[in-house]
Amino acid sequence: MQAKESIESVLHDIQICSPGQVEFYQAAEEVLHSLQPLLDEEPKYIEHNILRRIVIPERTIIFRVVWIDDAGKPQTNLGYRVQFSSTLGPYKGGLRFHPSVNLGIVKFLGFEQIFKNALTGLSIGGAKGGSNFDPKGKSDNEIMRFCHAFMDELYRHIGQTHDVPAGDIGVGAREIGYLFGQYKKLTGRFEGVLTGKNLRWGGSYTRTEATGYGSVYFAENILNDHGMEIAGKTCAVSGSGNVATYTIEKLKSMGAIPVTCSDSKGTIYHPAGIDLTTLKAIKGVHRVSLEEYARLHPDATYIPLHDYPKGGHAVWDIPCDVAFPSATQNELTLTDAKHLVQNGCKLVNEGANMPTTPEAIAYLQEHGVLFGPAKAANAGGVAVSQLEMAQNASMEHWSFAEVDTKLFEIMKNIYRTASETAEAYGSPGNLIVGANIAGFKKVADAMIDQGAV
Ligand code: NAP
Repeated sequence: MQAKESIESVLHDIQICSPGQVEFYQAAEEVLHSLQPLLDEEPKYIEHNILRRIVIPERTIIFRVVWIDDAGKPQTNLGYRVQFSSTLGPYKGGLRFHPSVNLGIVKFLGFEQIFKNALTGLSIGGAKGGSNFDPKGKSDNEIMRFCHAFMDELYRHIGQTHDVPAGDIGVGAREIGYLFGQYKKLTGRFEGVLTGKNLRWGGSYTRTEATGYGSVYFAENILNDHGMEIAGKTCAVSGSGNVATYTIEKLKSMGAIPVTCSDSKGTIYHPAGIDLTTLKAIKGVHRVSLEEYARLHPDATYIPLHDYPKGGHAVWDIPCDVAFPSATQNELTLTDAKHLVQNGCKLVNEGANMPTTPEAIAYLQEHGVLFGPAKAANAGGVAVSQLEMAQNASMEHWSFAEVDTKLFEIMKNIYRTASETAEAYGSPGNLIVGANIAGFKKVADAMIDQGAV
């Protein structure tokens, strides 16, 4: 079968086998379509049926989570862990707690994670998990009881050499602490089974900052290759969680001016540059709406959801040189891409997973906007997670500077790999093609080596 036919046949079949999983189809389509030049050149991947094998998770675990709220009433949620690929190492990927979580979302994230992890050059497989639990408005005790109940089932499916989850949306240091505590209680083992742990008990320096810092390092590599640099650039950042906060922090330290941040209710535009102390206090400590930011900084503007452009998001309507979507999937639409182009944006660098819709990507590429795809640009988080695993296994503790230097080098290598692969397969400068082919090739070659398992 020809490459094109084979790709279309696999994409057709996943829609039949996994109905309603739109985000998963979107992720699979992007990856599979970009593989065509490789498959045309090397038919062995079709002969070994790699496409059809790689889109099916090795294991999908779905479970009931029952937890007790502050009123003493039992509440229920769904828990997921999709162990997609253990070809290159133990399953690795975050847990997301958000009301929108469903199997399709966990599968899209897990699928992306396979190639992202391969690109880091480290020995880690791909997985993702989470729950439709909504942490918003819950007391600290409710969060703890939920995390403990979630781990009551998850613990039997994970382990330091088998599957090592981390954080994602709604899962930060607090949740990792509660999850780890319950794992330790249930198994009696103190081991590196989760990453993103507190520095005082097994965490790694730079893990908290890694995704945001890595995203800025990646953007700098792209800009440098095109005769530019991040210093002096006006940057639009979406989100106000882990990735956005540390993207803003690194941008500031490298001399750029991040002028925006956002949450699910609105956007802040602060032309003087986002104040990190205020942002960290509002989101990291008090966990309240960004509306509070504008109250504390009268020279900043708060744009609520109902004032967003039709079909778009206020954050991408603000003039910038570089855009860092760092909140969630499909948050940068065609309307947004048109605004960015109109305002002279030079680079879109994805901090979040799949934040740019396919139509928006096509428009940006047609209009010469440089593009840093998520699976390369935000791989810094999982890379430092693997460094945390290495430190746990050897009982060592590296300094902040040591880990940051390794992160910087890993991001440089990922850029070089994606860029050289794009060139080798006839799409110079197209880092989507480069990242997908490079990540896929590494996993697919190992799958062939390991036989039909
Ligand atoms: P986080 O700390 O929970 O922050 C998420 C941010 O996005 C919050 O500002 C949240 O606003 C906003 N958000 C979430 N859902 C939204 C929606 N449907 N519409 C608008 N805004 C929304 O999560 P994070 O760890 O920064 O993750 C952000 C993105 O980066 C995700 O795509 C994640 O998969 C990706 N990522 C994370 C890591 C990591 O190491 N954490 C690594 C690689 C990729 P509210 O505060 O209002 O909820």
